[in-house]
Amino acid sequence: MRCFVTGGAGFIGSHLVDELLEKGYKVTVFDDLSSGRKEFIQHHLNNKNFSFIEADLLDFNLLNREIKEHDVVFHIAANPDVRIGMQKPEVAKKDILITYNVLDAMRENNIKKIVFSSSSTVYGETPPIPLPENYGPLLPISVYGAAKLACEGLISSFSHTFDMQSWIFRFANVIGKRGTHGVIVDFINKLKKNSKELEILGNGKQKKNYLYIKDCIDGIVFGFENSKEQINLFNLGSHDATEVTRIAEMVVEEMGLKKVRFKYTGGDRGWKGDIPRFQFDITKIEKLGWKPKYDSDEAVRKAIKDLIEELGSVSL
Ligand code: NAD
Repeated sequence: MRCFVTGGAGFIGSHLVDELLEKGYKVTVFDDLSSGRKEFIQHHLNNKNFSFIEADLLDFNLLNREIKEHDVVFHIAANPDVRIGMQKPEVAKKDILITYNVLDAMRENNIKKIVFSSSSTVYGETPPIPLPENYGPLLPISVYGAAKLACEGLISSFSHTFDMQSWIFRFANVIGKRGTHGVIVDFINKLKKNSKELEILGNGKQKKNYLYIKDCIDGIVFGFENSKEQINLFNLGSHDATEVTRIAEMVVEEMGLKKVRFKYTGGDRGWKGDIPRFQFDITKIEKLGWKPKYDSDEAVRKAIKDLIEELGSVSL
């Protein structure tokens, strides 16, 4: 199978590339390195089954040429920063446009399968706990979530109109090695600068589901290989949820720090568009035969260890 991976030099994309190559597939990565890093795919550069194109998906002519002869597109590229929508709502426009380009290039080149990285943010404000895939109406409260929902709509409509097959995974918070953003990276970096005090956005009671990166990749590949509907939609997360203050405590413990003062910025959420509490119902993918290896707290602990090793501990 020849796989085209947009965003394959990013956190999730590069782990997916590792797994696809491990399974013996051919992989082309198309990534502009806007938030991805070449070092995440460096170890594959001499592999004859691997090629890398550094370019922006807005360049339709190039995309249309390079996507030829592939069997499936894993469309992982997007600006992953939910918070940035407050200052730069135009990132949503770009993420919708690049998804349109990917689908249109697939249509022109008769490529019939797309796997998409969506998000829990499509569900909007205070969804029920646990949250099943058929919850609605879907009214996102962040521009990031709105862009993801728009992309899901485009994928669904192209699937029906041009006889494509799609797999849409709504991820929880994915964490682990090569993570470049999110609450754990934020806490480690802040504590490296000041090991006495940690600023925590909101009141620390935000409670969300975290999924370890290996479980995420495993779930994507399992869902793709084992579900055969025209549109296959799954929540991809783990069991239960972890409070932000608990994450801060675990980071402090793992960094070997003591007497760190937590300073809360206040309010029930970290930023406008943040959903303070969510927990997925993952029965649908479990019924298919997949379950995560790590629950939310275990995923957080494992990711903290990975990231401390990568980012380095405090320089006291
Ligand atoms: P990431 O920033 O590490 O990966 C995104 C990749 O896309 C980067 O390598 C970036 O350079 C590339 N990219 C962005 N715009 C591009 C463009 N116009 N042309 C070419 N390449 C482009 O982020 P991630 O955390 O690995 O997220 C991967 C996907 O999963 C994203 O779609 C994100 O929205 C989604 N997602 C992530 C999480 C999470 O917790 N990390 C949760 C839900 C959904």
